[in-house]
Amino acid sequence: MPSTTTRAVRANGERHRDNREVVFEGVEKTYEDGTIAVENLNLTCPGGLITVFVGPSGCGKTTSLRMINKMLTPTAGKILLGGEDISSWDETSLRLNMGYVIQDGGLFPHRTVVDNIATLPMLLGTKKRQARAEAIELMARMGLDAELASRYPYQLSGGQQQRVGVARALAADPPVLLMDEPFSAVDPLVRGELQVELLRLQSELAKTIIFVTHDIDEAVRLGDQIAVFEPGGHVAQVGGPEDLLTRPHSDYVSDFIGADSGVKWLSLRPVKDIPLQQDGILSRSETATGTEDQWNLIVDKTNKPLGWLAPDADLQNGAALQPCRQTLTLEHDTLRTALNAVVLSPAGRAVVTDSSGRVEGLIDYESVVTAIERQQDLAHV
Ligand code: ADP
Ligand code: MG
Repeated sequence: MPSTTTRAVRANGERHRDNREVVFEGVEKTYEDGTIAVENLNLTCPGGLITVFVGPSGCGKTTSLRMINKMLTPTAGKILLGGEDISSWDETSLRLNMGYVIQDGGLFPHRTVVDNIATLPMLLGTKKRQARAEAIELMARMGLDAELASRYPYQLSGGQQQRVGVARALAADPPVLLMDEPFSAVDPLVRGELQVELLRLQSELAKTIIFVTHDIDEAVRLGDQIAVFEPGGHVAQVGGPEDLLTRPHSDYVSDFIGADSGVKWLSLRPVKDIPLQQDGILSRSETATGTEDQWNLIVDKTNKPLGWLAPDADLQNGAALQPCRQTLTLEHDTLRTALNAVVLSPAGRAVVTDSSGRVEGLIDYESVVTAIERQQDLAHV
């Protein structure tokens, strides 16, 4: 788990009580027909972090989530928010502390985007004008163009609807955000964008987020803490993403994670400590012909990559540059994308740029493998 919690624990000698923390204590839910949806759930969702509930369909994730905002009542045990038993809270004030986002967005169909977002603040007494202005700001935060404000939900793509759903859940600035498979119905590309957006937002807002998904990749990508649910409403394992990938406690957890847990682990590891190589980067004016034994990266005047020049290829004679395909940045990429990039590159080396696309250096297969080995040592995989 990230250091915020660890620090709090160390500083006080006991768990720091965060008023945004959600705790399940011996929580059970048996439906009227006798279905046991959740059995003896004990779990702390730390304040300001993302806890993911992951598991196949029907194992009690939604039931657990809906007990947090009292849409459902536990049949045994209790749930605490900031140390207080929520059974003593009235539903309205509890829900004002909790944004809720569901799979199909759940937007009001007859209200425009801006009014979908502004409705709750207006109910709470914010003047219409101000509520709308704040709604437009939230839209921008969620990467939504202001011109979408006057549209109705049916006039938006699935991904846009989910962004509005998140903006609406954040409108009253609740400390806790409950998200039930919010990105499951959109295509993989849009899902990836929404995940990046959520992480960016979370780095600014630090909400307590409880996020339900059936997708282990999504869980690993988003979760500070992951609870793996198994059928019957048990939690099979709780841990940070690295923990789950490298130390699954049971066959059920390792089967659920899948055979490529090593590759998933690489996606958690930053690329930033791989040394950059400077040889073989040439400006267009410097070169006409490739050197005998190596590929050279040709860059333009602003140091942006133009492509790879094959050994012995002659630019003057019309030899074409091979595209760089995937370039990397030290801040954002992981050992997984680095490995992928060197494998795909015709030159066997991948191009690392700064955030504006200027070349900083090259990495090769050996340097990626060395970094993987070093990080394995650090993680004692
Ligand atoms: P998940 O979100 O993990 O897919 P749910 O919490 O929705 O799982 O459901 C857990 C179990 O409870 C399932 O077996 C489901 O069929 C059952 N269930 C959910 N809602 C009800 C209900 N209202 N009445 C009876 N059984 C229910
Ligand atoms: Mg569900």
